[in-house]
Amino acid sequence: MSDGFDVDLFVIGGGSGGVRAGRIAATHGARVAIAEEYRFGGTCVIRGCVPKKLLVYASRFAAEFADARGYGWTIDGARFDWSTLIAAKDREITRLEGLYRQNVEKAGTTTYAERATIAGPHRVRLASGRELRARTILIATGGTPSWPTGLAGAELAITSNEIFDLPALPARTMILGGGYIAVEFAGILAGLGSQVTLVHRSPQLLRGFDQDLVNGLTAAYRHRGIDLRDGRNVRRLERHGPAIRATLDDGQVLEIDQVLLATGRRPAVDGLGLETVGVKTDAQGAILVDSQGRTSVDGIFAIGDVTDRMNLTPVAIRQGHAFADSQFGQRTWEADLTNVPTAVFSTPEIGTVGMTEAQARQSLAITDIYRADFRTLKATLSGSTERMLMKLIVDGQTDRVVGAHLLGPDAGELVQVIATLIRTGATKADFDHTMPLHPSSAEELMTLRTRSARHQRPASA
Ligand code: FAD
Repeated sequence: MSDGFDVDLFVIGGGSGGVRAGRIAATHGARVAIAEEYRFGGTCVIRGCVPKKLLVYASRFAAEFADARGYGWTIDGARFDWSTLIAAKDREITRLEGLYRQNVEKAGTTTYAERATIAGPHRVRLASGRELRARTILIATGGTPSWPTGLAGAELAITSNEIFDLPALPARTMILGGGYIAVEFAGILAGLGSQVTLVHRSPQLLRGFDQDLVNGLTAAYRHRGIDLRDGRNVRRLERHGPAIRATLDDGQVLEIDQVLLATGRRPAVDGLGLETVGVKTDAQGAILVDSQGRTSVDGIFAIGDVTDRMNLTPVAIRQGHAFADSQFGQRTWEADLTNVPTAVFSTPEIGTVGMTEAQARQSLAITDIYRADFRTLKATLSGSTERMLMKLIVDGQTDRVVGAHLLGPDAGELVQVIATLIRTGATKADFDHTMPLHPSSAEELMTLRTRSARHQRPASA
C-alpha cells in the first residue's frame, strides 16, 4: 500500500467490542482486519451471556411446572435431558457465530481465524507467521477465568468456559466464588436438579450490590435448598473414585461430582506482546487507557474487558463503536459509564441501576428510601413463595431518583427501562404522577407512597 500500511486498523479479538469496532470502522471506509483465535462472537456469545441465559430459561421450567398445578394443570412425567439442552444451545451459538462473522465480512473487513500478537509498533503477527503493518491496533482480547492460588487439586475443577459443554449434568456441584457468575450458575444448576453447594470467602454474596438485594437473594437461595457456605474457602480437591472430595478450611470434607471455579476473571493479555512495545498495564494486567481507549503507546488502543473498567457486553460494544467513530468517522464521543443497568440472572432475578443505599448515604446529604416487598399475584394461586422486592433510592434534597434495586420476576427487564428514567433525571414525584398499570408488579414502583427511611448524612461526613 502506498502509505506503507497493509491496513488502517487491525483488531485483535473478535468478541463483542472488537467486532463492533471493526465493522463500524470499515463502514467509515477504513481498511480493517480482525483476528479471532477461538470463535467469532467472543465470550458473550460463545460462553457467556447468551448460552448462560438459555440455561437460565431451562432452569426455571421445574418451578413453572410446579406453579402450573395451582392453576389447574396436571403435568405428568416431566423430565429434563441435559444433552438435548446443550445440543440446542450449541446450534443457536453456531448460528450466532456465523452471523457475527458474516456481518464483519459484509462490512468489508478481512477476518483471520487465528491468534494475533503485537510484534512491534504498527506490526501485528498472526499465528501462521504472517505479519501485517497496521496504522492503528485495537486490543479487544477480553478476559479469561482466573484460577485461585493455593488450591491443591485445582486441575480437577472446571471454569465457566467448560461448564457449557459438560457431557452430563453433575448430580452434586460445588461452586467456588460469590460474584454474579457463581450466583447465576448456582441458580441454573439447582434449577436443573443438581445439588449445589456455594462456597465463598466473603461473609456475603455479590459484593457491591444493595444490601437488601443480597439479603433477599441469600434467603431465597437457602429456601431453594442451595447450601451456602459463607466466609469459607476450599483448601484441597482430591479424586475419590468417580467423585471429588473437597476439604474446606474449617476441616469439613464434602463429596461432589463437579467443582466450578467462579473466582473472578482477569484480562487476556498473556503473550500478547504488550511489553514489546511498552503498553502499560495495572498490577492485574488490565491495559491502562484514557476515556477514548488510548493506551500508553501511540497508535494502540484497547476496549472492553481487557481494560477491566466495567466488564459487560453493552459496555464493550459502546466502547468499540465510540472508538471507531472517533478514529475513523470524524465523530468523537465516548461511552457513558454512569447509571449502567445490570442484571444478575439468578432465580429470583436481580435488576439494579444507580446508587445503592450505602453509596447514597455516603454521598448525599439526605437519602430517602422507598421499599416494597410483596408476594406476587401469580404466587397466590400457585402457592409458591415467590416475592418481589422493589427499592428506590431518592435524593432527599432534589427528589431525584438515583437508584433502583429489584429482586424478583423480570427484574432485569424492568430495570432496563428505569435506567432511562434515572438518566433523564426523573423525580420521585414523576413516578408518583405516572398512572400505574394494573394489575402488574411494576405498578408498585408508581405507588411507593410511604417513605421507608430517611437518612441524613452526619455533618462531619
Ligand atoms: P470478549 O467478548 O471476551 O472477546 C474477546 C475475544 O478475543 C475472544 O473471542 C477471544 O477468543 C479473542 N482473543 C483473545 N486473545 C486473542 C488473540 N491474541 N488473538 C486473537 N483473538 C484473541 N455481560 C453482560 O453484559 N451480561 C451478561 O449476562 C454476562 N454474562 C456473562 C456470563 C459469563 C459466564 C461470562 C464469562 C461473562 C459474562 N458477561 C456478561 C461479560 C461479557 O461476556 C463480557 O463483558 C464481554 O464479552 C466483553 O467483550 P470483549 O469484546 O471485551 O471481550
